[in-house]
Amino acid sequence: MDRNALKSLSYGLYIVSSYKGDKLNGQIVNTAFQTTSRPPTIAVSINKDNLTHECIVASKVFSVSVLSEETGMKTIGTFGFKCGRDIDKFKEFEYRIGITKAPIVLTTALAFIEAEVIHRVDLGTHSLFVGNAVAAEVVGQGTPLTYDYYHRTMGGKTPEKAATFSGSDAKTEGPHGPSSSYVCTVCGYVYNPATGDPRRNITPGVAFADLPQDWTCPVCGAGKENFEKQ
Ligand code: FE
Repeated sequence: MDRNALKSLSYGLYIVSSYKGDKLNGQIVNTAFQTTSRPPTIAVSINKDNLTHECIVASKVFSVSVLSEETGMKTIGTFGFKCGRDIDKFKEFEYRIGITKAPIVLTTALAFIEAEVIHRVDLGTHSLFVGNAVAAEVVGQGTPLTYDYYHRTMGGKTPEKAATFSGSDAKTEGPHGPSSSYVCTVCGYVYNPATGDPRRNITPGVAFADLPQDWTCPVCGAGKENFEKQ
């Protein structure tokens, strides 16, 4: 089987949020899609190890925030690469509590949908939650962030627990070869001196050792000490 065929599927990028008791949590998801029109239903695939999975099982509700292309790596890093068991992910982001009581991330969101779970399909590592959409609102203007844009333009990586993780993503080598590239041991982002970090004014040609001490991984926010030479 050629897994490259699977990579040609296209996706958006969303934050799926839910709650359990007093705990709010959310995570980045690329597998969210409308499943029927009448009534409107929506499905999300969530890894069983994730706190968000635990929250959805407990509360039977979830929200989906549609992210825009303006979404910063801080949002991706917090909701995509950190665990809600260690931090309060919502602390530094704008959000509201919806009619389902699920939190809804509003920072760089274009729209959101709230859903009540009507089916849970056990997929082994993941659950597919299908929900009745009970509320939806457009909250911003712009272009929805796609998975392709995230990978190609933002240089983003795929977390291991993503439904579409293939295993090869984290080992990308830059054109200058492994000797000068450094990989983030937290998320797999590769710093390649040939490209620098243009989003934060690090021009091509800057060696990893010469990056400012307070430079952090553009994907997950980890410090330089978390990087290893490739
Ligand atoms: Fe990282």
